[in-house]
Amino acid sequence: MRKPIIAGNWKMYKTATEAKQFVEKVNGLVPASDKVDAVICAPALFLAQLVVSAENSPLQIGAQTMSEQDEGAYTGEISPVQLTDIGVKYVIIGHSERRQYFNETDESANQKVKAAFTHGLVPILCVGETLEQRENGETGSVVEAQVEKGVAGLTEQQITQLVIAYEPIWAIGTGKTATAEDANEVCGIIRKKVASLYQNEAAEQLRIQYGGSVKPANVDELMTMEHIDGALVGGASLEAESFVKLLEAGS
Ligand code: 13P
Repeated sequence: MRKPIIAGNWKMYKTATEAKQFVEKVNGLVPASDKVDAVICAPALFLAQLVVSAENSPLQIGAQTMSEQDEGAYTGEISPVQLTDIGVKYVIIGHSERRQYFNETDESANQKVKAAFTHGLVPILCVGETLEQRENGETGSVVEAQVEKGVAGLTEQQITQLVIAYEPIWAIGTGKTATAEDANEVCGIIRKKVASLYQNEAAEQLRIQYGGSVKPANVDELMTMEHIDGALVGGASLEAESFVKLLEAGS
């Protein structure tokens, strides 16, 4: 049985003050549940503060990106060593916005995934096709190639710990959600691809999230799907009430 994982990606939203208020609200709304992994991936600026305020809450804290280097002269970057030192547990890798605006590639994503595992962080590797690729019938091949390059060189054990987020780019922040069937189909393609590269048993343990305009109104249907083990959520993770509703659907 794969444990569901609901992760909020706050992107460049919220101040440190608002983040603290969010945790307090979540604590008032929901008892800790071990049925679902609840993760907030926050701006790096206040990750340390958030780890402390989330200590007695159901929330675990993740970063939105990181360097693949342990340390060095990389102005503006944050390393996996620095993240684990403050108690961060997860890190989003290769989000489509990082690929689009910050020149990240499948190759850099692969290095970051490996670096995350080296330092005990759980990577959430993002893949997904553009609208043009979908309309050209290329979704399967695009996603398979992203997965193959992204997971290259991992061990079976690491595959069982990995999270992959399928986020069709055309569904991010647009209000357009893939149908649950379409999302499940692509998540199934991802699992099959991983099974072809590693052992079937490892691929069966791999957790796959869907992301792209997930909200309380559509999360239940998505979560009933065979290959969908959770959600990576932008907009609907910003309000405590709606994030808690997503957690309830996951548990
Ligand atoms: P939305 O949920 O706002 O569409 O964002 C999805 C996303 O990019 C999560 O990483």
